[in-house]
Amino acid sequence: MTQANGTAKLLSAVDNEIAACRAWGHRWPELVPGKKLPRGFRPLPQRDGCVLAIETCQRCGKERQTLTLPGGIFDTGALRRYRDPEHWVTIHAEEKVTRRDFQAEVWRRLHEDIGLYTVARTGKPRKAVTPTEAVLVVVIDVAIVTLLVLAALRIGA
Ligand SMILES: [Zn+2]
Repeated sequence: MTQANGTAKLLSAVDNEIAACRAWGHRWPELVPGKKLPRGFRPLPQRDGCVLAIETCQRCGKERQTLTLPGGIFDTGALRRYRDPEHWVTIHAEEKVTRRDFQAEVWRRLHEDIGLYTVARTGKPRKAVTPTEAVLVVVIDVAIVTLLVLAALRIGA
């Protein structure tokens, strides 16, 4: 398998939410002094006075755990662990998949979903066509062609 094929296969195996987080970064809860604690942030006091802060990405569900110093003091060297959400795909360095690869993948999916190039031209998303609508279009087209052929035959007769 070539590098490009391997990358494409890996990218296409990733869920939409995970692809978006890989492309744009996780949506970690943002702590703002003077404001309520945000959704997805859970501080769990430990016996030794440290605090285990559990943050959950609001998009993909990835969890980040930070263990503070005693008294809840955040240290830049604090122990950090991550828990992957279901369907998370681990990417190894030798696979050389970059954030830009995921951005390209998100754009490719958007193009499939809403016809991103149609949006760029017309300013309106193209409506996705359901299989039923596709069959209906074919049936109507066949009916129109049949009527035109019959009309032409009558004119010719
Ligand atoms: Zn995420």
